[in-house]
Amino acid sequence: MSEKTDIILYKGVIGLDLMLRGHHLLCVHGFRGMGYSPEFVKKMSSVVEEIRDDSNDFQIKVVAALDDTCGACPHKGKTTCEANEDSNEHVLSMDHNVIQHLGLSEGTVYKKSFLVQLTAEKVEPNDLDLICKGCSWLPYGVCKEGISELREKYDYQELR
Ligand code: SF4
Repeated sequence: MSEKTDIILYKGVIGLDLMLRGHHLLCVHGFRGMGYSPEFVKKMSSVVEEIRDDSNDFQIKVVAALDDTCGACPHKGKTTCEANEDSNEHVLSMDHNVIQHLGLSEGTVYKKSFLVQLTAEKVEPNDLDLICKGCSWLPYGVCKEGISELREKYDYQELR
């Protein structure tokens, strides 16, 4: 773990303000207003605004399950994603991919600032080809752009 990450982790976490599933930790950086319904876009937009607001830090519980944004999605079932017969398994696999890639623990609460910096440090745009394999938004390119911009903001150079 880098010195930058250690410093943020040291601040510790208490409480819970938002529950986000693993793969949404990446989606928030490339979100450009596209989504599954006007209600979902509205909810995602408000979450994204909070995440991108550097003046506002808060607690996020990272899960591999329906989260606060799924609550506004037309595909949300009682306990699973019901977009199609394979969708729940697929989104869960992306959740686990992100949680594993970032070295997080499912069900743990972290500071937003820590999660954003960790994402900038650990995720490169092309990692999404594997982490997000099969996601319908990946071919648009906006998610890789978002990660690239995030890394620039935190001054991480692309590894070549
Ligand atoms: S490709 Fe899909 S899962 Fe990955 S960041 Fe984009 S929208 Fe999220």
